[in-house]
Amino acid sequence: MATPEDARRANRSLLLRALHREGPRSRADLAKRTGLTRATVSAIVRDLLDDHLVEELGLDPAGGVGKPATLVGIDVGSRHVLCLDLSEPSRFVGAVVNLAGKVVVRRTYDRTSTTGRSALKLVRHICADLLGDAEHALLGIGIASPGVIDADGVVVTAAHLGWAGLALRAQLTTEFGLPVAVVNNANAAALAELTFGDGSTTNLIYVRVDEGVGAGLVLDGRLFTGSSYAAGEIGHVVVDPDGARCACGKRGCLETEVSDPLLSQRLEATGSDGPAILDRAGEHLGIALATVVSALDVTNVVLSGSDPVTTETFRAAAARSIAARTMPLTADRLVVRASTFAFDDALIGAAARVLDVELGIR
Ligand SMILES: [Zn+2]
Repeated sequence: MATPEDARRANRSLLLRALHREGPRSRADLAKRTGLTRATVSAIVRDLLDDHLVEELGLDPAGGVGKPATLVGIDVGSRHVLCLDLSEPSRFVGAVVNLAGKVVVRRTYDRTSTTGRSALKLVRHICADLLGDAEHALLGIGIASPGVIDADGVVVTAAHLGWAGLALRAQLTTEFGLPVAVVNNANAAALAELTFGDGSTTNLIYVRVDEGVGAGLVLDGRLFTGSSYAAGEIGHVVVDPDGARCACGKRGCLETEVSDPLLSQRLEATGSDGPAILDRAGEHLGIALATVVSALDVTNVVLSGSDPVTTETFRAAAARSIAARTMPLTADRLVVRASTFAFDDALIGAAARVLDVELGIR
């Protein structure tokens, strides 16, 4: 049964969500938009002002006749989130992120193939460093990790990090005494777009190419994680049966054709044949995505990753490849675009998850 505390929390989230989505508003406006009474809105705003989560921003210049109303907005600097991105083979990235999804402090840490226990040790070290950087109250720690992550923040499996069955959230919560969220890196990147993007996209397929290749699926405005938290794990879909041997034992997995270290190496080795290599890689990604795009009827595809993947050549090749394999109705609406947040997407998405869990902002 819902308690008064549940109701208070839900109403706070409702107001914070409205302010996050629409920017500063008057109390009267908030009542209209949320369906809450004026008295309830005033009480919650007072509560949020006491917590310094919102601030008063002066009189509403667009106010109509009568007594001018005071605008209220989220105080985006009032809380910070400590965020880590564990996606890259050569480094981990740590950042302090504010409530608007802006990176305030960034640090990078060499990891040169650090895995297993030493990777975990490095994660703890980064958290401790970032704690020292944070100058504002902390909302929590958000971690974007490759691999399959369950709802309890257990890394079920992350081959590139040498982790399996690692209770990362529980361990870090105990050690740092803060709320911790652990989320798959491609899912995090999709959440960044959903929470801090332009708000126009409620359906998207977000593909992130780093040491591996993963996709985050947003369906009807919600992140879709699947029945075993492995939705979007497209890295080991075979796109070329005669292709190179993959670490998983198969040949021609998407990861052997498109992932960052392999693609960069191939580009470096050939010199002048760059466009042909990017064309081929884009085509392979399109082969893996065509069925997903068609099955879900989601025609917004966002690509993010290291340099080769963000090129127009690669994007255009992927778009052509998907279009050639889908019906015109789908192909005509297809948009393959770059990420709004470039390679900060996973970091910012890790913060987005903490904002959602702790404040109901999404
Ligand atoms: Zn494979």
